[in-house]
Amino acid sequence: MHQPPTLKINEIFPSIQGEGLRLGEPTLFIRFSECNLKCAFCDTKYAWQTGQEMTVESILNKIKKIHTAFPTEWVCLTGGEPLFQNIRALAQRIKAENFKIQVETNATIFRRLGVDWYTISPKPPNYFYQPEYIKKAKEVKMVVTKGLDFGVLKKLRQDFPEKITLLLQPQSNSKSSGKHAIRLLKQSLKEGMKNIRVTAQIHKIFGLR
Ligand code: SF4
Repeated sequence: MHQPPTLKINEIFPSIQGEGLRLGEPTLFIRFSECNLKCAFCDTKYAWQTGQEMTVESILNKIKKIHTAFPTEWVCLTGGEPLFQNIRALAQRIKAENFKIQVETNATIFRRLGVDWYTISPKPPNYFYQPEYIKKAKEVKMVVTKGLDFGVLKKLRQDFPEKITLLLQPQSNSKSSGKHAIRLLKQSLKEGMKNIRVTAQIHKIFGLR
């Protein structure tokens, strides 16, 4: 497959993973520019267009430089939508440096990358995901918007193996969204659905990137 000479990158920075099951782990983030969706509630709209073209080599150099002061084992590829660009060569090089890789994706695109952790977050209105993720996803993260319907949650729970955690993440950590998340959780309990949790974005609570 054709490898682009450069990738459009919005930012590269060290932080803690603020969401999902890897919550709190020190992580180096590579935020890719561009996304194939345009969600109204997107909290990284700034990444849709802005960014700079970087070679795989220059991305790797930047990661290694940050790593000397922040020696974490995890690199998270996020966005925007990281799989919108062909990131195979970059993922291979990062793995060759012995990092573990997490990919945070809206799941509309699948790329076989040999990474350690796919976090998928299907988005409204149709919550489409590529079927490969049924076996590959480590977690399914749902942004709890006002319109998130119980039927969507139920379908996802039926589609994915029970050992895969479904995370209900209130939109922007808001109280009203948190209440909706708890309502959905209670209803799922009543229906005997397992391995669903309500979570939060702790990087926003702590004012981190
Ligand atoms: S899929 Fe994610 S990055 Fe893309 S527009 Fe929606 S929330 Fe933003």
